[in-house]
Amino acid sequence: MQDLTHYLNGAHVKGTSGRFADVYNPATGEVQAKVPLASADELAQAVAYAEAAQPAWAATNPQRRARVLMKFVDLLNRDMDKLAEALSREHGKTLPDAAGDVQRGLEVVEYCIGAPQMLKGDFTDSAGPGIDMYSMRQALGVTAGITPFNFPAMIPMWMFAPALACGNAFILKPSERDPSVPLMLAELMEEAGLPKGVLQVINGDKEAVDAILDHEVIQSIGFVGSTPIAEYIYGRGCSNGKRVQCFGGAKNHMIIMPDADMDQAADALIGAGYGAAGERCMAISVAVPVGDETADRLIEKLVPRVEALKVGPYTSGNDVDYGPVVTAAAKQNILGLVQSGVDQGATLVVDGRDFNLQGYEDGFFVGPHLFDNVTPDMDIYTKEIFGPVLSTVRAQSYEEAVGLAMDHEYGNGTAIFTRDGDAARDFANRINVGMVGINVPIPVPLAYHTFGGWKKSVFGDLNQHGPDAFKFYTRTKTVTARWPSGIKEGGEFSIPVME
Ligand code: NAD
Repeated sequence: MQDLTHYLNGAHVKGTSGRFADVYNPATGEVQAKVPLASADELAQAVAYAEAAQPAWAATNPQRRARVLMKFVDLLNRDMDKLAEALSREHGKTLPDAAGDVQRGLEVVEYCIGAPQMLKGDFTDSAGPGIDMYSMRQALGVTAGITPFNFPAMIPMWMFAPALACGNAFILKPSERDPSVPLMLAELMEEAGLPKGVLQVINGDKEAVDAILDHEVIQSIGFVGSTPIAEYIYGRGCSNGKRVQCFGGAKNHMIIMPDADMDQAADALIGAGYGAAGERCMAISVAVPVGDETADRLIEKLVPRVEALKVGPYTSGNDVDYGPVVTAAAKQNILGLVQSGVDQGATLVVDGRDFNLQGYEDGFFVGPHLFDNVTPDMDIYTKEIFGPVLSTVRAQSYEEAVGLAMDHEYGNGTAIFTRDGDAARDFANRINVGMVGINVPIPVPLAYHTFGGWKKSVFGDLNQHGPDAFKFYTRTKTVTARWPSGIKEGGEFSIPVME
């Protein structure tokens, strides 16, 4: 049994609150570590370290700050296998998928190496007689981020890379389900040359989060997780005067038009619906074939593929399609929703309820499920299941299919599979969802674009990574400067305007 720590001011520090949470190996169901849950006092200590370290970091020129990130990228590549193994052991996802989790974070770090270009500011020469005007982007100070269990490497990096590149200190409160990789990332940043106290990890639960929300020194909060918590953090953080961006849950629809290549659509749905056991905010959880004939053809293609899915522990390497879900409670929640789908009249075409893996009977494995004839009033349609369960809702027309995605409360991602450019273009223009795929099932934007949903999938107005991150982690100061002797001419009492 491992005793995990916080990472404060460049050192592993034991928890002092006396409260701990169990960290499981989801494949075996065993508790493999204890993680300390921080008190408000421990958070305040982290803030004090951050506040002391941040001014010198902000005063370091942006190119030198970027060099730390450059070195960090080297170290991530050096330790890729070690990071992926630690990630799989706590999260349960397969090793290739865990390496992908690190890689998609690394790509945002690479993008942030270009921070000096993004932080240049604007200058207007001679905005008036003898007057220059310039805008600077300055660091906020001490910033914080609260992250979910499902991407324990990628999402922390999406937050701390731009925050640090802009000259802020950053306090990370990762998920208490899989905190080891975030701790390893903080160590690697220090090995890359980051001064102590600039990036810290405070482990904890609601108590630590509330302390972050209420601490007056913390200037901004980034959050990724479920929608009810996102809404809570946004409300409390904003009312405390902080800059807050919160990314919430999802229910991503994929529309399959009658002219789509059905093999391609079925393959896409298998990866997007069941990859990472469905524990992705960009997973496709609803398939919407247009017309009964399309639906019949799709189901016929899906069934053998779903039945052939290989579910197992990450230790089986590349021979597994997806692993266990994160906790026993998550498994119970998923199976409860599957039961509700059956009770409410959906057709369970592939039933994974009796799934059992020999030798791993105590692991949190959930077999793959496929539903047909799901209707919008059912719980399996309205709620985020976050498990290996794909629901098929049959639409009779393209308009009905689009209307389903438009009317759902979540708006993170969506996709359309078709050979018709006109339908694809119309869909991309009209849909009220933040990230859209055309014959691409999981349209996660690359690092230099921005990531974010619409509707109840987001609270706040700037997206993650891409140019928005530099706006979120800086504030603008605009200076108007006049150097001639005009100030000797006496005061001006009406508002100055440019003629
Ligand atoms: P979660 O909301 O349970 O937890 C997220 C974070 O909030 C964790 O650090 C947790 O410790 C903290 N937290 C939990 N309960 C809290 C409370 N009552 N008060 C204050 N803080 C609390 O989410 P999760 O289960 O870790 O992650 C899965 C969810 O995240 C899914 O809903 C998924 O769609 C969403 N997600 C969204 C995105 C996105 O970009 N939109 C990306 C990844 C995951």
